[in-house]
Amino acid sequence: MRIVVLAGGIGGARFLRGLKDALHNRADQAESQNSITVVGNTGDDITLFGLRVCPDLDTVMYTLGGGINEEQGWGRADETFSVREELIAYGMQPQWFGLGDRDVATHIVRSQMLAAGYPLSAITEALCDRWKPGVRLLPMTDDQVETHVVVADGAGRRAIHFQEWWVRHRAQIPAESFVSVGADTAEPAPGVLAAIEEADFVLFPPSNPVVSIGSILGIPGIREAVAAKTVVGVSPIIGGAPVRGMADACLRTIGVETSARAVAEHYGSDLLDGWLVDEADADTVVEGVEVRALPLYMSDPERTAAIARAAVDLAVELGEKS
Ligand code: GDP
Ligand code: CA
Repeated sequence: MRIVVLAGGIGGARFLRGLKDALHNRADQAESQNSITVVGNTGDDITLFGLRVCPDLDTVMYTLGGGINEEQGWGRADETFSVREELIAYGMQPQWFGLGDRDVATHIVRSQMLAAGYPLSAITEALCDRWKPGVRLLPMTDDQVETHVVVADGAGRRAIHFQEWWVRHRAQIPAESFVSVGADTAEPAPGVLAAIEEADFVLFPPSNPVVSIGSILGIPGIREAVAAKTVVGVSPIIGGAPVRGMADACLRTIGVETSARAVAEHYGSDLLDGWLVDEADADTVVEGVEVRALPLYMSDPERTAAIARAAVDLAVELGEKS
């Protein structure tokens, strides 16, 4: 099976780990016939202290490569923060984004390669040579696309970087809108459209529907390519609330209710064929979309693999019908 997954950070990375386990244990397929291509969100990317940081690509790479801080869900395991302390001693800004020492090495490699003219897709491949994530990890685009947030508070109306809104302000300043700066002229990274075209189906893991999956779908050409495929998504919303994080603040900004049904309707039945919801949302009905309910908390590896298996099974079933 050839599978494409559009992924953000933690939720996407954990789902991918479950998907690898699920494929590993499938009896009906020789493992060598399976491939997973991940199209990663780069809308969260930011330049800090001269270093290019790609939080979602790195979360996927570290999680699948065994280098992640498991409790936190992002950043390196056994991390130290000497560089950060030294930067603070110099009074360097911003101080709200914590880069660990081990993590900094990744960003130095990336920034040096960018300065030498390599595209992000080639750099990501080079970084993955070390981590061996067991998937093909592609950035959604090699062009610089950044999510900015239009906010208004005592300091006036202005656009700030998504990370400043999310990390510094914990999404507590009301957002008026999101702007995917650079998206309109961006192109999908090499290999992205071909991987989607060749895929048996496309999966949406529980990633942020607005600033992760929404950003990826906002790169010209990607949404149309995905819509031509069988697509199954996993709801990031359970019982009317995000499982972790502040996806509700993002949904509110674009006028979408925080519910499993509303997120599926936001994607639309032209895009989505199947939708997995938690048992708490078993009564969910979405016109034109096949809905299945099962426990959706990725609480341990077995549960996570079961969620991934259900997504694959539904995609295979819907693919046979069409
Ligand atoms: P992203 O991957 O960068 O988009 O961000 P996160 O990984 O932090 O979270 C993305 C979304 O996944 C959030 O809306 C969470 O509510 C959701 N999520 C996180 N963990 C789980 C889980 O165990 N099960 C489900 N169904 N959703 C989850
Ligand atoms: Ca993210």
